[in-house]
Amino acid sequence: MKLTILGRSPAWPNPGEACAGYLVEGGGARVLMDIGPGVVAQLLRRHHPDELDAVIVSHMHTDHMLDLATLRYVYPWRARPREQRLRVVMPPGSADQMLDLARGVGNARHFEDSFRLSEHDGSSPLVFGGMSLTPMATEHFIPCWGFRAEADGALLAYTADTGPCDNVRTLADRADLLLSEATLRSVEEDAQPPERRGHLTPAEAAEAARDARAASLVLTHLPADGDGSWARDAAAQVFDGAIAVAEPGRTYEVGR
Ligand SMILES: [Zn+2]
Ligand SMILES: [Zn+2]
Repeated sequence: MKLTILGRSPAWPNPGEACAGYLVEGGGARVLMDIGPGVVAQLLRRHHPDELDAVIVSHMHTDHMLDLATLRYVYPWRARPREQRLRVVMPPGSADQMLDLARGVGNARHFEDSFRLSEHDGSSPLVFGGMSLTPMATEHFIPCWGFRAEADGALLAYTADTGPCDNVRTLADRADLLLSEATLRSVEEDAQPPERRGHLTPAEAAEAARDARAASLVLTHLPADGDGSWARDAAAQVFDGAIAVAEPGRTYEVGR
């Protein structure tokens, strides 16, 4: 299985970089996980969206989904035959927001003429060819799901956005590669009690990788100036496995 970073920015983009967007390939399938601002331009350097089996959205924060509005313009303006429309899997309960967004950009049918929109159920695996992606709820400011992607005997765990929680360890359990958000430079940047946490520091991402016995850790969704060595150094204090800071445009082998 292969993971390609199309964007690693948090909601406040790193200059010249896209927000969340991750291409996963394996088992004869190709899936885009998250599609934040700037991701479509990066995707088109490699693939036409017709070469995707699906786009999967972790949650309804704009840095993970707003480029769906852009993606629609890749297609002719007339409606496509239903069987040709790109499959787009949204989080449970997001239909009203998608309709609001479509109306907001001037056409209530903005998405449905080009996409086959559906919602996952929060727990059942999504299967595309020989790849399965199992959603798992994370701890965030709004409902959010990470994914365990399995293909070719390899396992990739993607946290999406999350604070520290048991589910992150379950999500990452014995993953070949844990793709973890690491948005915070310090815990003080997160929501403070009594509010619940919503993001991780690099050290907290590393704790999850260590506790879950993941083989390797790729830190993403972080404010990276230069090579992001501050984040890698913090994670290396905690986790003995291989650690990388996600590099836009780079492809990582998952598993053997
Ligand atoms: Zn978020
Ligand atoms: Zn985010």
